[in-house]
Amino acid sequence: MKICFASNNAHKLKEIQQLLGPPFELVSLEALGCTQELAEDQDTLEGNALQKASFVWEQYQVICFADDTGLEVEALNNEPGVYSARYAGPERDNQANMQKVLENLKGQANRKARFRTSIALFLEEGEQHLFNGIVEGHIMEEPRGEQGFGYDPIFVPEGHDRTFAQMDSQEKNQISHRGRAVQQLVSFLQHRYVQTGT
Ligand code: IMP
Repeated sequence: MKICFASNNAHKLKEIQQLLGPPFELVSLEALGCTQELAEDQDTLEGNALQKASFVWEQYQVICFADDTGLEVEALNNEPGVYSARYAGPERDNQANMQKVLENLKGQANRKARFRTSIALFLEEGEQHLFNGIVEGHIMEEPRGEQGFGYDPIFVPEGHDRTFAQMDSQEKNQISHRGRAVQQLVSFLQHRYVQTGT
């Protein structure tokens, strides 16, 4: 069963492909012939996920889902949040974004943070569902590790002493915000399309 993931981010496609087993086959936006960047100008993660998934549903009438993720830092009033990609400016520079978080947290004892992923799923007839995945953790004083992307080098998940960038993708997927949101999506899809046999 083909499902479109409304993204052209190769990292995320790979991560989610590892979590989505058969009979589901992940199809990228590009595979549908869509190479444009989808608008995400809402002020919540849920709003952005719904905006992207509804665009794909309306254009292509395929079962699809879209995600939006934010890093919410407690001492920064949950910033960068929905603005995580462009925190340091429109260039979407991961290094600059990380440095801005570290700079804003300088001298701050409270380093609590969490990643949150919202996934919007559109099914036949445009039926909509939302899933939320959260991982709590804290922000390091300096970046560590080479793997992953985005804010991974400065985020240590609760119960661990390494950053996401010091874990391989399989280990990260098991505990990450996106992993948790995708697990909910997968359970829902399996219950709906596999167990019921519809
Ligand atoms: P998006 O909604 O997945 O495009 O993510 C928005 C911003 O959060 C981007 O700057 C990403 O780099 C960052 N981000 C998303 N997922 C992760 C992650 O798993 N680790 C670190 N940063 C992430």
